[in-house]
Amino acid sequence: MTKEILIIEDETGILMSLKDEFESQGYVVHAAEDGGMGLQLAKEKKPDLIILDIMLPVLDGYEVCKRLRMEGDRTPIIMLTVKDKEVDKVLGLELGADDYVTKPFSFAELTARVKAIFRRTEELTKDLTEYSFGDVELDFEKYEAKKGDKRLDLTTLEFHMLKYIIQNKGKVVSRDDFLDRIWGEDNVSVSFRTVDSHIANIRKKIENDQADPKHILSIRGVGYKFVG
Ligand code: CA
Repeated sequence: MTKEILIIEDETGILMSLKDEFESQGYVVHAAEDGGMGLQLAKEKKPDLIILDIMLPVLDGYEVCKRLRMEGDRTPIIMLTVKDKEVDKVLGLELGADDYVTKPFSFAELTARVKAIFRRTEELTKDLTEYSFGDVELDFEKYEAKKGDKRLDLTTLEFHMLKYIIQNKGKVVSRDDFLDRIWGEDNVSVSFRTVDSHIANIRKKIENDQADPKHILSIRGVGYKFVG
């Protein structure tokens, strides 16, 4: 699957050369020249990784990082620190950045960091054969599920929906995402309401209290988010 990278950097020269380089490596690149636009694109495009400069107009990199993490967005972030200052790195990592690269950096260095992060996230999500949260255990290979001692009767579709939302743990999965991924992009006969009713069924089975779900949260007007 093509990976998408969002680069938030106000120095147009750097931004454009990074965009060209990453595109030539086969990534889809989104570019923003200030923190406000960056934050907006992060939400809209849901990139697989964000390269985030610190000194930015509108919102600085720390603020962008902080806001994303506060909203539960866990997209990996590589920060570009201006100087080789310890405080930059520490603050960035405390705010939830995954890594940092100090300017001036070589493209090879940045690519290596990007690839390392993708490797780590792929290891986490690639072979999701089983998963457990709370008192629920899921086996995605055998299509078996248990809650406590009780066997859960999940449909294949429900397994697929659960797997998909768990693979995107911490991120908001929109109804559109579900339709594209589970039902296929050209399927026009399925509506948002279908997604909602399947989610309701899944909640009935996995949540202790379906009226107060703790694992599949509703994100008003957007979709759902898995926490577990
Ligand atoms: Ca800058």
